[in-house]
Parts: sequence; structure tokens; C-alpha cells
Amino acid sequence: MQLASQVPLQRLDVSWARAAGIELWVRRDDLIHPTQSGNKFYKLYFNLRQARLGGYSQVLSFGGPWSNHLHALAAAGSAEGLQTLAVIRGEAPVSLNHCLAEASEWGMRLQFVSRTDYSAKQDTEAIHRWVAGLDKCLVVPEGGANLFGAAGMQVSGQAIEAQLNGAPADICLACGTGTSLAGVAAGVDRQRRVLGFPVLKPGTGANRPLAAQIEDFWRALCPKSQVGIASNWRLLWGFHGGGYGRKPKLPLFEFWRAFEAESGLQLDPVYTLKLFWGIYSLVKLGYWPKGQRLVAIHTGGLQGRRGFVCP
Ligand SMILES: *Cc1c(COP(=O)(O)O)cnc(C)c1O
Repeated sequence: MQLASQVPLQRLDVSWARAAGIELWVRRDDLIHPTQSGNKFYKLYFNLRQARLGGYSQVLSFGGPWSNHLHALAAAGSAEGLQTLAVIRGEAPVSLNHCLAEASEWGMRLQFVSRTDYSAKQDTEAIHRWVAGLDKCLVVPEGGANLFGAAGMQVSGQAIEAQLNGAPADICLACGTGTSLAGVAAGVDRQRRVLGFPVLKPGTGANRPLAAQIEDFWRALCPKSQVGIASNWRLLWGFHGGGYGRKPKLPLFEFWRAFEAESGLQLDPVYTLKLFWGIYSLVKLGYWPKGQRLVAIHTGGLQGRRGFVCP
């Protein structure tokens, strides 16, 4: 985890930020590990430690067919000699996509379940029905969305705080389950704002409201003395670009193309594209004052580009 302090914080020179007098920086968490990309490296870190300490020989988790989380888990399992199992949403395909083919090469066992059955995924009985021969198995929720996951991202937050060395800046990141947002917000100074850009439409995804889930993780990670104080995170809705995992349409696709060409930074279409689209849209609307510094976290996920037509 000392790797977290070595992740580069880079200035991004893009015309729309420059024109608005906004200083845009990107924290390159996408570079933290060659196969466990971005926030998934952090979210798995303490989960894997738990597996080792608890003497688990297997780790089981859940996700869609392009899941960055399952992809990273498969890589970690192969590196650490842990058997990994994946419950995947949807019927088995005729041939595996790049993401799952790689996961399978890394030794991950894949179990496909129908979308209806998948919604019962947290039910232990259902897991035993789907996956035969479960031994001593650690079950990690979809997306690594547990307190171990949030605690991992808290380390990224602490590293950003150290890099900023007291300089004012808002921190921005994409939100799926919000686990990363909670962790980062708990890792930085309480005065610093951490802004989450949900990639799901409101009311879709988990049964629990996103904000309630984030608040729980945040409170669990903050020192007890701070429990009464106001949260330093918020959600900025409206930049899901059609919904989770949707093919980016105009004008989002055009923004993607122009952004990558100008900045030289690659984005994944599911998360980080929505993040920068949100930042761009808010900069255009004058959400931040001139001179504002922003740190956008590149949470990785570039393996997912293989499932999309990219610029
Ligand atoms: C999984 C993922 C996210 C979402 O993280 P949460 O902790 O679930 O909010 C963001 N960006 C990328 C690239 C991801 O793979």
C-alpha cells in the first residue's frame, strides 16, 4: 500500500479548464498496478488481507460481464495463489469477452446466473446453489463494496491529502457503489470537499439509496470524535450519460474524443468518462470560481475500453 504515495498527480492542460481559470489535476490511480486497476486495487487490498489472515482458500464475488472488480480479483488471486470464483450477471455467452477470457486464464471460476437470480446475489443459500464445492470461502460484495473496500480507498485519500500539502482543492471521482467516495472523503481533511459523480441513474443499482450507503462507510471510517460533524462529501447527479454501461452517444462521445486528443489521457467509457464529462459540464456552467483547483481521480478501468467503440 506504500504504492499509494507514489501515484503521480498530474496537471491537465485542457482548453475549457484554462478558459475558465480552473486548475485541473488528475491523480493517476489507474497506474497503481499493472493488472489490478485503479480503485479496485485499493478496494481489494484489505479484502485480500482478510482472506489471508482468516485462512480462506477461496474468494467469491459478483459482477457484470465487463466487471473491473472481477477482472482485478482474478489477477490478484492468480498472483497470490487464492482460488477465485465469480458469479456473473446474465446467461453464459457463446464465447467469453476479453475481460472474462483473461479472468478465466488467471484461474477464476466463472458461474453465470440469470439476471433475475442475480438480484438474489447476497443470499448465502443462493450462492451455495450456484457454486458447487465451496470450501472456506470469503464472499466479497459486488464492486468490492464493503468496509474493507472503503478502508482501502481511505489510503488513497490520505495520499492525496499528503500530495496537496494543505493546498485548497476539491476532489472529484466517479461513483458506482460510492465505496470509493466514502473512503476518499474519510481519508482527506474534514474541510476538504469530495465530490462524487454517480454513473448510474438515480434509483437504479443497489436497493439502498446511494447516499445512505456512503454515509455509513464514511461514519465507520471517521474517528469517533468526528461522528457528529457534517460530511465532507456530496453527490453531483446528472452526468450518467444515458445510464450504467451504455454506449456513449453524442455529445458525450464527441467530448470523449476531444478530451483524449487534447489531454493525452485515456478514459474508460463507464466511469472516468462520466467524471470528466461532469467536471466539464460544471466548469461550463460556472460552478467553481476562477482559480479553483480540482483533483480528479482516475480510478482506472481501461480494460473495459475493449468492450466499446472508442475514439
Ligand atoms: C468500480 C469503479 C468505480 C466505482 O467505484 P465505487 O467505489 O463502486 O463507487 C469508479 N471507477 C472505475 C474505473 C471503476 O472500475
